[in-house]
Amino acid sequence: MTTCTFPCLLCSKIYDTKKKLQSHERTKHKNNKSIPHYHILDKPSEEILSFYRDAIIIRLKSSLGFNRHSIGKKHIVIDAFPESVFLSLFENENSFKYIPSQRKYQCILEGAVGGEILKSILKYDQVIFRENKNTSTKGYILLEDNDGQYKLTFIWRQKEWKENDRLFLTGILSINFITNSGGFINDEENQILPSVQESSSNGNHILHTINKYNVSSILTQSNNNNVQIYNKPRYRYILPYSQFKNISLNNK
Ligand SMILES: [Zn+2]
Repeated sequence: MTTCTFPCLLCSKIYDTKKKLQSHERTKHKNNKSIPHYHILDKPSEEILSFYRDAIIIRLKSSLGFNRHSIGKKHIVIDAFPESVFLSLFENENSFKYIPSQRKYQCILEGAVGGEILKSILKYDQVIFRENKNTSTKGYILLEDNDGQYKLTFIWRQKEWKENDRLFLTGILSINFITNSGGFINDEENQILPSVQESSSNGNHILHTINKYNVSSILTQSNNNNVQIYNKPRYRYILPYSQFKNISLNNK
């Protein structure tokens, strides 16, 4: 009779139950970034990355709306999402971690800083909001307000499917976040923000636009220094925030 063993793939420990292994991973390899099978994964092409960036952008933006029904917790699932694409997009982030026993990766972006990181990962400036110019309202991913910071969580998991006694392995990307909506006033107030890193040459994203901003200001500023001036609409909130108070933010 053979006994099941559950070896830790990150060190030499072996456990007799999966539960013990998982508890070991949680304590000894809490923020693990090492991926034992990394060498067998192919690097995706820029074209493939661009395709999946678009998929994420479109799904995020389609969850944003302009009324009270389109606010609150959101959960998006993108099926058949390649592991190598998830790694290429998120592996360099501070919060990136891998849990081998669960074949699971996680990356959490938080607050306004997280929003900027998301824009740069997806090479798209407007991913966190959608505007309705006729009604001057916008729907947006809530990352920060007067009450604090909120999280946008990306999780990749391996999923097993069985067909004709054969195992088919695929990946699932889940995204959890909170949305809100509000009115905005485009008051043409000049603001100075750190420069947005534009990818050079053919790295330009197909959805990447800067028409929201004062293009002439960007053009005149971008040659000589790393500060750009553009007109940023100022937003006022039209809905109360009390409903977000009870939302668990997965804080430990
Ligand atoms: Zn270990």
